[in-house]
Amino acid sequence: MTEATEAQDLTAFDIDGKEPIIKYRNVSKSFGDNEVLKGIDFDLYPGERVAIIGPSGSGKTTLARLLMTLETPSEGTIEVDGRHLWHKEVNGKLVPADEKHLHKIRGDIGMVFQHFNLFPHMSILRNCIEAPIKVLGLSKKEAVERAKKMLDKVGMLEKADDYPASLSGGQQQRVAIARALVMRPKVMLFDEPTSALDPETVGEVLNVIKDIAKQGDMSMMLITHEMSFARDVADRVCFFDEGRIQEQGPPSKLFAHPETERLRDFLKSFH
Ligand code: ADP
Repeated sequence: MTEATEAQDLTAFDIDGKEPIIKYRNVSKSFGDNEVLKGIDFDLYPGERVAIIGPSGSGKTTLARLLMTLETPSEGTIEVDGRHLWHKEVNGKLVPADEKHLHKIRGDIGMVFQHFNLFPHMSILRNCIEAPIKVLGLSKKEAVERAKKMLDKVGMLEKADDYPASLSGGQQQRVAIARALVMRPKVMLFDEPTSALDPETVGEVLNVIKDIAKQGDMSMMLITHEMSFARDVADRVCFFDEGRIQEQGPPSKLFAHPETERLRDFLKSFH
């Protein structure tokens, strides 16, 4: 089997002729003696949605933090849209990247964390226009237009003038999603976006993410403990355990016919 057909078997997404937008190659990460990621190879294709599941402590968040350059790998390389993180190409040679280079690459990735981190002293609208004005250099008018569109998309336009403290956790997370989308990232990275929420607001946030997934060609990496959500939204599910991708495939295959004992045990814990 060629590499391309092998890769195509792993996802329900049509990757024909596409180049990955994110490429991890042999990425390892240790904290002291603790090797948290062990030689990860991982590709995400433009428009593809990948759910990352696995037990706590298996390295999922570290995988995401590396992409945001919040951590550096102990070994291996990561590329975003053909550009190396931590290094840039100058006259055909890779040299250590400067902050400007990292800044540009980070701009391609919109991240939504477990904790939404909205600025408490700013209105919802202001929260959404700060970065597009300061980082992208948009005029206030353009930023407001974009922000309103995104707030509308997540059902929060009516609250544009309110402050974060007056919103529920689910509503704040919807604003955090709008705030990330305003930057028009190439990839959206969600790290357990619902695990800090009250159970009654989990559904509204998952629905917003599902809508975004359905609407467009946004590439997504979703770290989640919500198995039915992963099944509904993802083209591919990666099961992480002990710092490795133990098994991956389209959700129809992975959930119905898990091949490894570890994945079977993990899935049983959700019944
Ligand atoms: P997951 O997201 O799957 O729960 P994490 O990537 O958060 O896993 O963590 C994997 C392991 O890495 C855990 O054992 C955790 O304690 C360790 N770890 C993560 N970040 C750090 C850090 N900054 N310093 C030391 N250990 C860390």
